[in-house]
Amino acid sequence: MHYLVFIVVLLSLVGCGTVSASPTAITSAASPTELLLFEGERAMTHAEAQCEIGPRPAGSEALLTTRAYIEEAVTAAGWTVVRQDGEFMGVPIHNVIAVKGEGVPRMVGAHFDTRPVADQDATTPGEPIIGANDGASGVAVLLELARTLEIPEGRQVQLAFFDAEDRGNLEGWPFSVGARMVAENLPVERPEAMVLLDMIGDAQLDIFRENNSDIALNDTLFAIAAELGYDENGFYNRNKWTITDDHLPFIEQGIPAVDLIDFDYPYWHTTEDTCDKLSAESLSKVGRVIEVWLEKESFISLLPLVS
Ligand SMILES: [Zn+2]
Repeated sequence: MHYLVFIVVLLSLVGCGTVSASPTAITSAASPTELLLFEGERAMTHAEAQCEIGPRPAGSEALLTTRAYIEEAVTAAGWTVVRQDGEFMGVPIHNVIAVKGEGVPRMVGAHFDTRPVADQDATTPGEPIIGANDGASGVAVLLELARTLEIPEGRQVQLAFFDAEDRGNLEGWPFSVGARMVAENLPVERPEAMVLLDMIGDAQLDIFRENNSDIALNDTLFAIAAELGYDENGFYNRNKWTITDDHLPFIEQGIPAVDLIDFDYPYWHTTEDTCDKLSAESLSKVGRVIEVWLEKESFISLLPLVS
């Protein structure tokens, strides 16, 4: 992931359209924890497993080990695995998409490669990064979603695991090589919308609206976050960063896409991006927003009683 412009002034008038689901006060006895199945602690075990594999750059043996881990987890949860293999500048590229359900597809994506060098690290810029937040966190949420999602009738969910996001600006590589391969030659049905999860596990979670992202889809996601009590508590419903990331190839294909990303992360592209910087609570917040989006689009509509 790579940022282009740091917007110092929050562009609240640019990206914050009307909210599509009103954050009505929930007065029923039901609590979110009773109705939502996503567990941050379980997601954290998936993040830790990836950290234990070590650095997982495109073209490495560790990347293939990670792919095997992903495929085993989604297959065990009853998903169909679609592989898309390719090559870029002599390096093999391995994308994986897990598919479940029949109907209008929605895609949630994350990159599972890690940056081969810690080029933001003041002391060891040549070392590879572990990529706990920048890589493992998004994958971890997708894998816990694979376990917990109750996909409604008329919907298909595609969990996309992208290779080769994070070799950009190194040896002539761009960012998002794997995601571009998927978006430009879809090996699955064309999704009606796509949400990218990148760097969403920081214990100090600060997700702002990303400037390249689809406005209406962001309205929906931030409305869900507000319903779940995350407004100004992990999710901040105003624009801040402009990010080059795996959502852009989908936007270029006319697919509405959003990058949920916490770019206020001091360990970005350093060897300090390790699993101790993550929290189960942050993974849970993001996972539950996506859980609601894929199942109902509104947490209110999941509640049996709302007055
Ligand atoms: Zn990165």
